[in-house]
Amino acid sequence: MSTAFYSPAQCRLHEMGRGHPECPQRLDAIQDHLLATGLDGVLDYRDAPVVTPEQLARAHSSGYVSEVRDLMAQAELEADGGLHAVDPDTSIGAGTHAAALYAAGAAVAATDAVIDGLAANAFCAVRPPGHHATRTESMGFCFFNNVAVAARHALDVRGLQRVAIIDFDVHHGNGTEDIIAGDERVLMCSIFQHPLYPYSGDVPKGVNMVNVPVPPYTRGPEVRSVIDEMWMPALESFQPQMIFISAGFDAHREDDLGQLGLVEADYAWITRRLVDLAERHAGGRIVSCLEGGYNLSALARSVAAHLRVLAGVTA
Ligand SMILES: [Zn+2]
Repeated sequence: MSTAFYSPAQCRLHEMGRGHPECPQRLDAIQDHLLATGLDGVLDYRDAPVVTPEQLARAHSSGYVSEVRDLMAQAELEADGGLHAVDPDTSIGAGTHAAALYAAGAAVAATDAVIDGLAANAFCAVRPPGHHATRTESMGFCFFNNVAVAARHALDVRGLQRVAIIDFDVHHGNGTEDIIAGDERVLMCSIFQHPLYPYSGDVPKGVNMVNVPVPPYTRGPEVRSVIDEMWMPALESFQPQMIFISAGFDAHREDDLGQLGLVEADYAWITRRLVDLAERHAGGRIVSCLEGGYNLSALARSVAAHLRVLAGVTA
């Protein structure tokens, strides 16, 4: 079985203005690098449908879902291509509706494909990202929490009893924490720079959270040892039946949105740990979704390092 790869074309339609780091070129850089390295040839490219309101409402309030979808649908119809700011860094434009619905739809489709045994594991190269989107709020470039929607689908619809959410984006996944804190069917393990946007996570919101804030300029060796000390014992005893990854690559040394010092080899190492864990407890089931990563070259190289381990490519 292969690694399924989802990257709906609609995810490139969402734009938040000239010079914005969360731009469609992020997905182009990933795809170009996969082609240039030949990694595209080992991936199983798959299409995804849009997410449904019912699927979104497993992670968000139904009021929030209808309010955001109305705003997005309205922007889609506007001829002038104007942007509607929801926070100082996050805007809805004409292409946001389609992008957001397909991004979350891909995460759900990937979950089904992996549970159904059609793929060993899956990566969703999607945008907008999701891990800052709370139950009731868009923020930090995020509208719908793709990973939380997918995890709840696995639990509520597909009948899994325990899933893990891993978040290694440089920013704390406050939205995911807001949604799943107290849901003891989920263990969330994260590592993030602190202090840094959104300035949360130092005090976990639930007993099902393993939050590891690290100071600026922390590098790979320290990150690897805190993962082994803090995440792995909790994950081993939780025995997740499936692992979801909020795969942000902005903790890379070359990424200017944070000040951590990871490199491609660190992302490969983290992925190896998670693949081994999934093989021990979860029948290998992993669904990984792109979150941040804004230096285009470092992003593409890091995604490739992550995918090589997921796909079992040793060369
Ligand atoms: Zn980030």
